[in-house]
Amino acid sequence: MEDLQVYFVDVLLPLHLPGTYTYRVPQELNGQVKVGARVVVQFGAKNARMYSALVRRIHQEAPHWRSKYIIGVLDEEPIVTECQMELWEWMARYYMCCPGDVMACALPAGLKLASESAVTIHPEFTGELSSLSKHERQVVDLLSEHPVMRVVDISRAIGVQKIMPLIRGMIEREIVVMDEELKERFRPRKSAYVMLAACFQDEASQKALFDELEKKKRVKQVEVLMQFMQLSKFGKEVVPKRVLPQGSALQTLIKNGVLTVEERVESRLKDYSDAELTDPSSIVLNDEQQQAYNLLRGDGTFLLHGVTSSGKTEVYIKLIDEVVRSGKQALFLLPEIALTAQIINRLRKYFGDKVGVYHSRFSMSERTEVWQRTLAGNYQVLLGARSAVFLPFKDLALVIVDEEHDNSYKQYEPAPRYHARDAALYLARLWGARTVLGSATPSVESFYNAQTGKYGLATLTKRYGGFTLPKVTCVDMKEAFRQGQVKGHFSSTLLQAIGEALEQKQQVILFQNRRGFSLRLECDDCHEVPHCIHCDVSLVYHKATGSLRCHYCGYSIPVPSECPACHSSHLKMTGVGTERIEEDLQIMFPEARVARMDLDSTLQKNQYMELINDFEQRKIDILVGTQMVTKGLDFEHVSVVGIVNADNIINYPSFRSYEHAFQQMTQVSGRAGRHGTGGQVILQTYNPHHQVIENVMKADYQALYEEQIQERRVFLYPPFYRLIEITLKHRDAEVLNAAADWMAAQLRSVFAARVLGPEYPLVSRIRGLYLKTITLRFEKNEPVSDAKRVIWQIGDDLAKQEGWSGVNVIYDVDPA
Ligand code: ADP
Ligand code: ZN
Ligand code: ZN
Repeated sequence: MEDLQVYFVDVLLPLHLPGTYTYRVPQELNGQVKVGARVVVQFGAKNARMYSALVRRIHQEAPHWRSKYIIGVLDEEPIVTECQMELWEWMARYYMCCPGDVMACALPAGLKLASESAVTIHPEFTGELSSLSKHERQVVDLLSEHPVMRVVDISRAIGVQKIMPLIRGMIEREIVVMDEELKERFRPRKSAYVMLAACFQDEASQKALFDELEKKKRVKQVEVLMQFMQLSKFGKEVVPKRVLPQGSALQTLIKNGVLTVEERVESRLKDYSDAELTDPSSIVLNDEQQQAYNLLRGDGTFLLHGVTSSGKTEVYIKLIDEVVRSGKQALFLLPEIALTAQIINRLRKYFGDKVGVYHSRFSMSERTEVWQRTLAGNYQVLLGARSAVFLPFKDLALVIVDEEHDNSYKQYEPAPRYHARDAALYLARLWGARTVLGSATPSVESFYNAQTGKYGLATLTKRYGGFTLPKVTCVDMKEAFRQGQVKGHFSSTLLQAIGEALEQKQQVILFQNRRGFSLRLECDDCHEVPHCIHCDVSLVYHKATGSLRCHYCGYSIPVPSECPACHSSHLKMTGVGTERIEEDLQIMFPEARVARMDLDSTLQKNQYMELINDFEQRKIDILVGTQMVTKGLDFEHVSVVGIVNADNIINYPSFRSYEHAFQQMTQVSGRAGRHGTGGQVILQTYNPHHQVIENVMKADYQALYEEQIQERRVFLYPPFYRLIEITLKHRDAEVLNAAADWMAAQLRSVFAARVLGPEYPLVSRIRGLYLKTITLRFEKNEPVSDAKRVIWQIGDDLAKQEGWSGVNVIYDVDPA
């Protein structure tokens, strides 16, 4: 029966807007609209733009104004679940942003089609037109003339109003792609396949071929051909070229037209359905692990505090196995994509194609594909970096946050500025799932929660296999210099340890927390240091590109040959970065294979994985890197870890600096001697008696924690207080100052002494905008949702003041 009722939908748009918007459902679409599915709506001035919006609610309450009709329906079934939307809404409230900001962050770009989206022909589109509709052909024709077009322009050109469902269909069938994909330097993965030439398909000609080759004594060719025949079921199937013996015989067979080669595109997501699996019950836990495991099987939230290489991952695998067996889902979060490579392999070994991987380094179509497969319930184990909390889970029973202390869990830019560990805790609460936070160096907050009984605490005190923690040797660089025992940036202690490791065919990791070659170029005569023209920071010298670069905005200039201020030619370089360490090492150890892992060397999608793979396979002897090398990687043959400059790490201005320094140094130390005794760490410093260094040397987390918790209590920091940091930005310093003073005064009139500032942050200008911050702190047990509303209101009022509408106000709740 026809449904003649009048329906309305409240929809969420992926835009920085405060709430939902109400649209009317045209009668013919009654019954086709579902909560959590996308519809197309017009929004904005003169309704010029179309967006995919998400249906949040369907109802019959006519709004007081005349609402617009939705234009079309994109999904027959929901693509976002109720639980996800609840998470988004919590996130918007808690982190003080708009639900649309969260939606824009949570949905993979492939699901955010809008009229402004640019599309282009899919690089793998065959050109086959026969299966296309008339309109689809028109789109293809248009795009072959104008390779990149906005959806709205296509709609105009071919005169189709309801263009988005059409484009969506074409994206799904890989006829077109959204242009963003190309910006990610989309390259289809291709590999070569070999097949038998058509003229040798019958038995007779095959026999003749072999006879001839044998007569001519082409033994190698016969060998290769035999192997090919076997693998290809006598020429009936194609064979990957890489599995055949590479060499001139194969080349000749190809050249003579016996075999032909074809490049084929492989699916983006590898197929693991045939992989041979290991049964997780074959893992035998040691006593400590078993005790931890027993505890972690209970309900609630737990902290697993286990020293580096104690086998936390093995315990996770057991926990995941239990969940998988019961038909439910587990989420495994890692702070950094660099780490996923190893863990993927470890998890796939046990769970095969039940494992789905999701992170921002994936291309848009990969992410969309994983999203849709998750929605279809294809995965039971979801592994990913922070954005994986946004996946459409079906039945989540376990959440693991590995390396829970890690800063990379916090998203800085743009909103939502969320902490994925905390979001994961909320997500787990929505599902009633158990949560395990794991770390060798827990965050002060989590350890405090474990101490006060909010979390259960499981502890692993020993490395697995009876191996000892590496010995940490501290080198007093002042003393070393005095004794003439320093060469470049290396003490002879460190050089000797590296030399010995190389001799014993072991590997070395060197940690330097700054990238680039030297950190500053300074005039010896007038002490001028070249600065960024957009930011309040000095430029960093990058030798590889011969440039001075700003690490905040990317501004870059060629290295000047003389001082821009006094024209002196005495320019000296101060401070060292990874590039310099890499180069110096190569000179001192010419035989060693040295590589570098930092932001500059891992810009491309797979470079991380390649570096890690090469290091794993011992194609690299010394790996130099920034904090990327400090994290939970498990390499077998690393015997020496060097911390080139510990003081740099400690002297970072933040209330967390000691905590972070301890974590980074302990973590990087933990890469040494994991599968053998005798790992050692050489830590170079000018402050050998610094308390953090002493804690690192003794591997004394407890001492670090006691000191930190004491300071946090005295100086009113988390976990006793909750911080909200407000940053104001504007091009004009005077406007900014006035606005910041006004806002601080308004806040003080409500929150009094809880307001600190405004003040200039460490870097007070970025990308041409001046910055000021105001910090608020609230007692932890005080509810802050009302306070947040008041703060938000004051921010809104600020924008309404004469001349201040351009002041950008940014909220950061629980700043890292
Ligand atoms: P963590 O995550 O605590 O740093 P890992 O889980 O990487 O430590 O364990 C360190 C090494 O010890 C890994 O190579 C792991 O395979 C091995 N290992 C740990 N526990 C076991 C176990 N119960 N059985 C076999 N190997 C184990
Ligand atoms: Zn000068
Ligand atoms: Zn800059």
